[in-house]
Amino acid sequence: MASDQGPSAGDPTSRRRIEPWEFEMFFDPRDLRKEACLLYEIKWGTSHKIWRNSSKNTTKHVELNFIEKFTSERHFCSSISCSIIWFLSWSPCWECSKAIREFLSQRPGVTLVIYVARLYWHMDQQNRQGLRDLINCGVTIQIMRPSEHDHCWRNFVNYPPGKEAHWPRYPPLLMKLYALELHCIILSLPSCLIISRRCQKQLTLFRLALQNCHYQGIPPQILLSAGLIQLPVTWR
Ligand SMILES: [Zn+2]
Repeated sequence: MASDQGPSAGDPTSRRRIEPWEFEMFFDPRDLRKEACLLYEIKWGTSHKIWRNSSKNTTKHVELNFIEKFTSERHFCSSISCSIIWFLSWSPCWECSKAIREFLSQRPGVTLVIYVARLYWHMDQQNRQGLRDLINCGVTIQIMRPSEHDHCWRNFVNYPPGKEAHWPRYPPLLMKLYALELHCIILSLPSCLIISRRCQKQLTLFRLALQNCHYQGIPPQILLSAGLIQLPVTWR
């Protein structure tokens, strides 16, 4: 049975997979480590073939490394469309956002979808504006949900034999808090997610500070899904 084997069996892409501990370390929304990881998929034109690879930050951020690699390895033909999906442990900083916009402006056939596990220094106004600018130039940005963790585990991780469905589960509330904060960024609302660190116990605390403008500006279904408002119940 295929599920009794690891992904290496018969998978020519196994050398590009990362180890389970690396995936858990990089994509845990509670872990605020410095290093970043990028898992990416590239699809050209109408081809069903998907190129997958992974990258980590060096002296440069992973986004810049991707752009350099893509630009140097590919003789880009503008008549062929190209769709790129990124799974990033951190959302792009404002400098990377700028570089991504420049990269895309020179390649109108490229579409980019970015899933992020965490928001990078999300209270920094330049970073917030950088994400808005990316969205305004057509980039889709979303917080990674359990379905994306599942997808990455199966396609990018060298999971042990028989552990195909054993992708790491993280607190769903945390993903909803990040999704809520991303909405605040998109809508130019003040930040509502406060992250602090208790160094002594290595604890990371996530706190929510909703303001009146959040209730007015954030779509009710988002507040509802995060459990911040409840549907009125009518008793008969
Ligand atoms: Zn960056």
